[in-house]
Amino acid sequence: MTSLSGKSVALRDIQKSWGKTTALDGVTLDIEAGKFTALLGPSGCGKSTALRLISGLEAPTSGGIKIGGEEVTGTAPAARDIAMVFQSYALFPHLSVAENIIFGLRVRGINRSERDVKLTAAADLLGLRALLDRKPSQLSGGQQQRVALGRAIVAEKSIFLMDEPLSNLDAKLRGEMREEIRSLQQRLGVTMIYVTHDQVEAVTMADCVVLMNHGRVEQVAPPRQIYDAPQTLFAAKFIGTPPMMTFATNMLGIEIENVTLGLRPECVKITQVGPIRGEVTHVEYLGADAMIECRVQDTILMCRVPGKTDLTSGSAVSLNFAPEDLHAFDSTTGRRLKHLPFEIEAASALQATGFTQADQS
Ligand code: ADP
Repeated sequence: MTSLSGKSVALRDIQKSWGKTTALDGVTLDIEAGKFTALLGPSGCGKSTALRLISGLEAPTSGGIKIGGEEVTGTAPAARDIAMVFQSYALFPHLSVAENIIFGLRVRGINRSERDVKLTAAADLLGLRALLDRKPSQLSGGQQQRVALGRAIVAEKSIFLMDEPLSNLDAKLRGEMREEIRSLQQRLGVTMIYVTHDQVEAVTMADCVVLMNHGRVEQVAPPRQIYDAPQTLFAAKFIGTPPMMTFATNMLGIEIENVTLGLRPECVKITQVGPIRGEVTHVEYLGADAMIECRVQDTILMCRVPGKTDLTSGSAVSLNFAPEDLHAFDSTTGRRLKHLPFEIEAASALQATGFTQADQS
């Protein structure tokens, strides 16, 4: 199959409301051509609406959309060089796999030999060759998903839009399909815009994650960057399992108003000495890892440690961490602070609490 070239998508100050409900509240976004972009966020944050606006199924209340640099706001879906794959697959139950895949080509009056060439190429790409005569009801969920993808592939569009395509599948199959869709996108070279509420999906599949919240974009970044340097408290808590722990500065013996600190569970070390003293309240054994829940003053901190741990509920522990693993946010705006606000002024306070002592675990 020839590689398709993806196209870029640009949203400019998009507003979308239905009566009093505002689904998108000033979204400006550049989606790179040929890349896998995940629209991620909690239910109701506007992901599907954004996708439907890109597809042309809905029109924005205000703002503009460009595809491949060309203005498409107001044009019909058919004029936008996009293929959509829905969660429900939308397969025709009475048609075979082959007929389902080439349905759109037939409607467009593409001749039989050309249809066959495209069908064969798509079936090979998706491993559907042996299933072409089956009906959708004779397929597993994953195979049905592949047929829906096959239909998008033969349409040879530059942009694939997928809305929660894996949510009907069981966990194992979801994992397999994640890999399959990702590698398909790379082989085809199309622009993939993929809606999901599942951060694991977004982080494992996407080149770029667009994190949304209440109709706005919180952060646009590659998965690693959004994890390492979340720009908002929302991003810090949405990405990562369990989420980043947040606490006030006084837990470190410092009083700084309006600053919220954050630490990822894998960055907390349980040590003999450390600046934070607490008590284990729960141990969740996960095999390779264990999650240790500790109470420190009135805050619960989670620590990820190797599974072979002797800690039990009630153990007294000291917690330590490397200063560079601390994140700091403005408590009011939720925005990330570029620098820890106490690096210089309060270094002595940290020392007083044992903060600078080496990890002696
Ligand atoms: P998500 O995909 O992130 O779950 P949606 O984009 O589906 O969120 O919805 C965003 C908001 O817009 C929600 O409050 C939803 O109820 C509302 N909404 C979506 N579609 C419509 C519609 N056709 N009419 C009215 N409200 C809608």
